[in-house]
Amino acid sequence: MTPFQFHRAGDAEEAVRLGATSASKYLGGGTNLVDLMRETIERPERVIDVTGLSGEIAMNDAAELIIGAAARNTAVAENRLVRERYPLLARAILAGASGQIRNMATVGGNILQRTRCTYFYDDDGSRCNKRQLGQGCDAIDGFNRIHAILGASSLCVATHPSDMCVALVALDAVVHLRGVRGQRVVPLAELHRLPGDRPDVETVLEPDELITHITLPPQPPGRSTYRKVRDRSSYAFALVSVAASLAVDEGRVADVRLAFGGVAHKPWRARKAEAVLLGQSANEEAFAAAIDAELTDARPLKDNAFKIDLARRATVAVLADLTGQQA
Ligand SMILES: Cc1cc2nc3c(=O)[nH]c(=O)nc-3n(C[C@H](O)[C@H](O)[C@H](O)COP(=O)(O)OP(=O)(O)OC[C@H]3O[C@@H](n4cnc5c(N)ncnc54)[C@H](O)[C@@H]3O)c2cc1C
Ligand code: SF4
Repeated sequence: MTPFQFHRAGDAEEAVRLGATSASKYLGGGTNLVDLMRETIERPERVIDVTGLSGEIAMNDAAELIIGAAARNTAVAENRLVRERYPLLARAILAGASGQIRNMATVGGNILQRTRCTYFYDDDGSRCNKRQLGQGCDAIDGFNRIHAILGASSLCVATHPSDMCVALVALDAVVHLRGVRGQRVVPLAELHRLPGDRPDVETVLEPDELITHITLPPQPPGRSTYRKVRDRSSYAFALVSVAASLAVDEGRVADVRLAFGGVAHKPWRARKAEAVLLGQSANEEAFAAAIDAELTDARPLKDNAFKIDLARRATVAVLADLTGQQA
């Protein structure tokens, strides 16, 4: 690990002041950043611990849920408001990592955790455009079973690993940022970037910007859930995951929100599928047609074509479950 200065921020203002250099990194639970520092993939000169900032989880007068960036993943999943109003968020968090990691991991850190592409972590032997732009990407012709089928580029085919973010994107979460130039809000669906020609730039955040909190609009109508398909029943990242919320009125889809994990460089909001489904009869044929519309743009790699069928089947099953049908 490269030597670094350590500071603990007392409040957001102090964190941003200390973080206002490109060589600084904010530290949440450290469950991703410290691993990357150990491997010298991240080499910050200054680390600013932001776990002392707000971790409050509360409802405001507009019935929005506010979650402080320092809230631990376990605290969010166990919170009564979250479990009652946003059950898919609680399910998504509990589908991730292990109890010990969830106890450490924070909301801010979970949102900004980095890809689990194995070539990205293999600094000794692999080429990776995300570590060093222009180096090449060993995943494209390598073992790419876990990699992207949507939105990838010729420079990077990595996926975003977070379960929590898939639920948050389906719930239209908004991220509140604070930097030296002031405060701004960004919909979570627009926070992460597709790789394009800059896979090393993963979000729209400025280097000094701190996530202070997120807000969730009032709960969507109908029923919702999160389903994760993975190689082992626990302690594994998603091959494909589905966050879904569905309201049916007189047999027709009155409201639907769909997002996928494990398929793209960012949590993937399935807006095409939603548009196709709205107003249709809530049955398996309509669910399959909607997901097919979303997946027409899928471009599988040599090892991951199975993800297309997996995403299709998982989505149809989840939506059928939400309507009380069997799939
Ligand atoms: C063995 C293992 C298995 C895992 N399995 C899963 C899984 O199945 N599903 C899943 O979703 N995740 C999984 N994870 C990942 C885990 O969820 C993340 O490591 C964790 O959420 C990161 O949170 P953290 O607070 O520890 O972040 P940190 O490691 O502290 O930080 C991560 C990044 O966020 C930045 N950051 C932190 N807080 C802020 C802030 N407030 N503002 C701006 N930047 C900030 C840091 O600078 C850093 O770049 C797993 C991790 C491990 C080690
Ligand atoms: S897929 Fe992306 S992260 Fe993985 S090796 Fe290629 S450039 Fe690096």
